[in-house]
Amino acid sequence: MTAFMHSREELQHLQSLPLSDKVRLTRERIREWTETWQGRVYVSFSGGKDSTVLLHMVRELYPDVPAVFANTGLEFPEVRRFALSQPNVTEIRPEMTFVEVVTEEGYPLISKSVASYIRYARIPDPAGRRRIYMTGQVRVPLRDGTLGRSMFDKSRWQKLAEEAPFRISDRCCRIMKKRPMKQYERETGRHGFIGTMAEEGMLRQRAWMQHGCNAYDKPHGVSTPLAFWTEQDVLQYIARMGLRIAPVYGAIASAQKCHSCRYMTTGADRTGCVFCCFGAHVEKRGRFVSLRESHPALYRYCMEGGQWIPNPDYDPDLPEFAEDGFRNWNPERLWVPSSEGLGMGFVLDTVNGLYGKILIPG
Ligand code: SF4
Repeated sequence: MTAFMHSREELQHLQSLPLSDKVRLTRERIREWTETWQGRVYVSFSGGKDSTVLLHMVRELYPDVPAVFANTGLEFPEVRRFALSQPNVTEIRPEMTFVEVVTEEGYPLISKSVASYIRYARIPDPAGRRRIYMTGQVRVPLRDGTLGRSMFDKSRWQKLAEEAPFRISDRCCRIMKKRPMKQYERETGRHGFIGTMAEEGMLRQRAWMQHGCNAYDKPHGVSTPLAFWTEQDVLQYIARMGLRIAPVYGAIASAQKCHSCRYMTTGADRTGCVFCCFGAHVEKRGRFVSLRESHPALYRYCMEGGQWIPNPDYDPDLPEFAEDGFRNWNPERLWVPSSEGLGMGFVLDTVNGLYGKILIPG
């Protein structure tokens, strides 16, 4: 059972505070982390707007703190140029390319947690103990006294796990970003600040509830002093401070769309890894549709290419179904990137075809 030091209600309370209070609390967390490690800290800097705000706040208090940019080769060119144009930025690189990661580990598809469940579900396991959430076997008591689905239920994605003839994995971030950062930490003895926010997903929310902003108790401790901010806070801070951000975002403007969205960017609203599919199925417009218009050459590289290779783990003796009814994942051939491109057109067609609708527009 996981021990939580904070509740969801505490997080919601912090998230509801005005920006001025958040700025004050964030400065306190930054001071605590920096003093604990006697100044041996750094900012993990992606060039995106969140880490730009974080870098600004850290350097307001401690101007000499270095920023570290993990050059994965997956960034928008404008974001990479912006990141490397800032003072005192160290560039680090992963040991593998994205093509190698996708070929050996799999495409980052749907979300980190779904990709992780799919990776485990596909490991041959006659009784299916590793995939009880994927096959929807777990039932939990509901308020009305009946049994219902667990919040971890991933059975919606069972079809994808069983039938897609390509690897799917959650390990890309670890290889492309986390490992090089940890290597930097080992070499320098510095401890990181990261500009992630709890509102970005369940894993980040749980991490905050478990460790708070300054995770001293984690093996590789990390500080997330913006954890209780929202995207609106980040935009408001940028507008108020007149902060320069990567040009791909355009400008910060007043949003007329809804009551709670007061600020918006006039350009891209997302500048993470260009080819990443995590979260692409919940976007209204679709990142690849935007990419086709803004960066046609990158779009073509992403969608075109791809090739079939023999599946080294293919087992002709594996039964079609496991005892739990899961169709064992055992394709003879695997779809992987080629020198012409990442082959994501085929990946999206497969996902959309399996679900009978445009789940990820491309
Ligand atoms: S954000 Fe996506 S593409 Fe980028 S490193 Fe993580 S999984 Fe890979």
